Parts: sequence; structure tokens; C-alpha cells
Amino acid sequence: MDDVHKLEIPTPFGVGRVNCYVFTADGLTVLDPGPATESAYEKLAAGLDAHGFAVADVDRVLITHPHMDHFGIANRVVEESGARTVAHRDATRHLADPIEHFDREQAFFRPFLKAMGVPEQIAGTAVTLPEAYTDYQEPLAVDRELTDGDIVDVGVDLTAVHTPGHAPGSVCFVPSTESVAFTGDHVLQHISPNPLLTVAPGTDDERTRSLPSYLDSLDVIRTVEAAVGHGGHGETIPDLNGRAEEILDHHHRRKERIADMIDETGPMTAYDIMQEMFPDLPATEVFPGMSEVIGHLDLLEDEDRVAISEEDGVKRYALR
Ligand SMILES: [Zn+2]
Ligand SMILES: [Zn+2]
Repeated sequence: MDDVHKLEIPTPFGVGRVNCYVFTADGLTVLDPGPATESAYEKLAAGLDAHGFAVADVDRVLITHPHMDHFGIANRVVEESGARTVAHRDATRHLADPIEHFDREQAFFRPFLKAMGVPEQIAGTAVTLPEAYTDYQEPLAVDRELTDGDIVDVGVDLTAVHTPGHAPGSVCFVPSTESVAFTGDHVLQHISPNPLLTVAPGTDDERTRSLPSYLDSLDVIRTVEAAVGHGGHGETIPDLNGRAEEILDHHHRRKERIADMIDETGPMTAYDIMQEMFPDLPATEVFPGMSEVIGHLDLLEDEDRVAISEEDGVKRYALR
């Protein structure tokens, strides 16, 4: 697409740079402008300038999902430009008040992780750690809330395809004119996106079943007419379908590995499994690691292959 440009915006996170896509067919649209840091702002401004635009010229800001490496700086862009903001309706509460979202997560996941076998102190650290990053985002009011199938006109029509799993309210944007999809963090070329657990949209006391919904959303993106993917990090995805199948396959193999592990060991907590799968995990990786393991246990539960018992408030999984 001639009138779409990719800007690689620096982030303070381990994932490295985030891809911001700029559409210039009708006015100026930015998709995922980046985190709220000065260096991200400078790179965004310089990238727009190279195409003859300034931050103040932005007409629309599109957000693929409510993670701060993608949306953190969006409010600053809006303040300077008066741009309209667009995101999926399941993302709006998180975007509007990321601190409230963080508080809800802390309150829910501290006892939840303990029930999954995580020692109290480690559970406390795991839910508190993200606090260090809360500065990299500003609350963002969403002007247009999307649902699956909605069309956003940015000079070309982009269809919003709802792909929850990596995050609630995740959307891929598929232009009508070309066989491509802007996939956010739903599909990436070099990373298997983490099906992070979070508090379910619209609730305070229920978690998402992130991996089952993620795998369903991979099936959804395979039905979309798009050969090539433009992800939120890293290189272009030359074979979107093939990459989606690769990720499905990866999760299938991991699920069977966990089933075998439980079969050999007997009843295990999710934390036992995580420690065996990822020994010596640093504290920062405990939450993503637990999300991954619990996701696979959810799949086994949905397939009716595990029995869950509870003793002293701690859950153990055994094969049926
Ligand atoms: Zn993300
Ligand atoms: Zn990301």
C-alpha cells in the first residue's frame, strides 16, 4: 500500500520497538502510536515529518489493544491534534482508566495466584511489579467504540476483526483494497504472543480464559482474506495463515506436554507445572508464565481431560 508507512517507535519494554502504522490516503491516521515516553514522541514526530506531517495534523488514532506500548502516548497526540480515537468497546474501560484497571487486576490476581499454588510472597511481587511501568501510559477517552465487523474509513475502508486473547478488545484491521491485515499483537512473526490473563471486560471478579479465546481468534484470522500481516512488533508476516497455523501447532504441542507431565507426576498445581516448564523464571516473568500454564489447563478442562481438586484453598489438576 503506497499510502501506508511503518514507523518503528522505541519502548522501554523487553519487547523492543513497537510498529506504528501511518495512513495518509485521507487526512492522517495513526495506528498504535506508542508508549508515553519522550523518545517515542520524538520518533513519532520525526516519522510523521518525513512524510510531510506534524503530530498536530493527526485526524484519527486507532488502537489495536489496550497495552501501553501501543496506546500510552495516544492521549498526548489527541491533545495536540484534536484527533478522534477508535478502539474496540471491550478495551475502552481499560484505556479510559489504566490505573483503575491495574488496581482491579491486583485485587483479583493476588488471591487467584495463591489458589493456583504460587507462594504468597511471589504472588505479591508478581502483581505489584507492573506498577513500575504505569508511567508509560496516559488515560485515553475513546470516541468511537468498535464491534466486530465495523468499518473505519481512513481513506481506505478498514474492517475491524475482533480477536480477543492476547488482550480483551484486541482487533485486527483489514483493508478492503489489499490482501493484508494489521494484526497488532494478535499475530507476530517472531514472537508467540502471550495469552495474558486479565480481569474480564465488564466485571471485577472474573478472569478471562485467554488462551482458549486466543486460539479461537487465530481461527478467525485464518478465515480473513489477508495473505500478509503487519504486526505490532518486528518484521512483516509474509504468510499470515501459515504463521497462525504455526502458533496453533505450538500451543497444541505445549498442551500435550503439560498433559504428559501431569500424567507422570500426579496432581499438580499450575505453579508446579510452571516451575517444571520454565525453571528459574525471574519475578517479572511469573505472571506471563502462569498465564500460559493456566491457559493450557483451561484448554484441557474444556476438553474434559482434567479433574480439579481443592485443598486448603489451593487447586490441583489431575488427568481424568
Ligand atoms: Zn500487547
Ligand atoms: Zn505489544
